[in-house]
Amino acid sequence: MEKIHDLIIIGAGPAGLAASIYASRYGIEHKVVGSILGGQITETHDIDNYPGMENMTGFDFSQKWGAHAKKYGVEIVSTTIDSIMKKKEVFILALANQETLHARTILLATGTKRRKLAIAGEKHLLGMGVSYCATCDGFFYKNKIVGVIGGGDSAASAALYLSNLCEKVYLIYRGAELKAEPYWTKKISHSENVEIIFNTNVVEILGRDKLERVELDKEYKNNCQLEMDGLFIEAGSVPNIEYARGIKLETDKKGYIKINPDCTTSLTGAWAAGDVTDGSDGFQQVITAAAEGAIAVRSIFRWLKE
Ligand SMILES: Cc1cc2nc3c(=O)[nH]c(=O)nc-3n(C[C@H](O)[C@H](O)[C@H](O)COP(=O)(O)OP(=O)(O)OC[C@H]3O[C@@H](n4cnc5c(N)ncnc54)[C@H](O)[C@@H]3O)c2cc1C
Repeated sequence: MEKIHDLIIIGAGPAGLAASIYASRYGIEHKVVGSILGGQITETHDIDNYPGMENMTGFDFSQKWGAHAKKYGVEIVSTTIDSIMKKKEVFILALANQETLHARTILLATGTKRRKLAIAGEKHLLGMGVSYCATCDGFFYKNKIVGVIGGGDSAASAALYLSNLCEKVYLIYRGAELKAEPYWTKKISHSENVEIIFNTNVVEILGRDKLERVELDKEYKNNCQLEMDGLFIEAGSVPNIEYARGIKLETDKKGYIKINPDCTTSLTGAWAAGDVTDGSDGFQQVITAAAEGAIAVRSIFRWLKE
C-alpha cells in the first residue's frame, strides 16, 4: 500500500522552502519536490532587499534557505513533477524520476519561467549567444558587446551586472521608460557603458553558428541592425503550471493560480503560494513568496486537523 503523505510541497524556491520550515514547525509530515533548490533567486548575482540579509549573492542566499529547511529533517527531492491527478481525496503526483507520490494536500509553489520572445533566431542561437540568465552566462561575454531585452527589475539588474563584465551593454526596451525600481534606474543612469534604446523591439536574431547581430524594428543611429556577441532576454515571465493541468485549477487571465487570502485555491486540498499565484497584488519578490508559503501552511495545518 502506497504511503499517503500529509503534504507535498511542489517547488523549492522561497515560497516552498518557507512553507517547509513552517510545516516542520507545525509538525506536518511532508516532502518537498523541487527541481532547483532556492528557485529563481539562484539566478541573481546580488540580493540586497531581504531584511537582515545584506549584500548576498543569489546562490549563497538560496543555500542558506535550503540549509534552514533541511535543518528540520525534511526530504527535498531534486526533480520535477510531470503531472498531478486527484482520485477520490488523494493527489497522485508523477515525478520525472519515475517515482509516484500520494498526498492528502499539496502546495503548488513552482514560480515562473522566462518568457520567450518567439522571434526568428531565438531558438537556433540559444546557448550560442542567446541566454535567459545573465548571472549564469554573463562571464562568457567578458569584454564583449551584449544586449539585454526588457525594462523591468530583472532586465535592469542584468544590464548592471553585465556592465561590470562587458565592454558595452545595450538595454533594449519596447517602452518609453524603464519600469524597474528607481534603485536600479538610478544605478543604470550612472553606468557609463550601458546604452538604453527605448521604444524598440528586436525582431530577429542573426548569426550562423553564433550570434552576430540583431534586427531592430526601427533605426537606431541610422541602422536597423546592432552588432553584438551576446543577447540576454529578460522579457518577463509566465507561471509554471503545465504539470497541474490535470487538476484544473482556476487561474487569472495571465495563467496565474487564483488564491484566497489563506492561499487556498479553487480545488479542495490544493494550496498555492509565491510567484505562481495571483496573490500579493502581483508583487513577485522573495519576501512576498515566503509570506504566502507561511500563510498557506498555517491554513493547511488547520485543514488537516479538521
Ligand atoms: C534575475 C532575478 C533577480 C531577482 N532579484 C530579486 C531581488 O533582488 N529581491 C527579491 O525579493 N526578489 C528578486 N527576484 C524575484 C524572486 O526570485 C522571486 O520572486 C522568488 O524567487 C519567487 O519565489 P517562488 O518560490 O514563488 O518561485 P521560484 O523562486 O521560481 O521557485 C520555484 C521552484 O519550483 C521549482 N519547479 C518549477 N516547476 C516545477 C515542477 N514541475 N516540479 C517541481 N519543481 C518545480 C523550481 O525548480 C523552484 O525550485 C529576482 C528574480 C530574478 C529572476
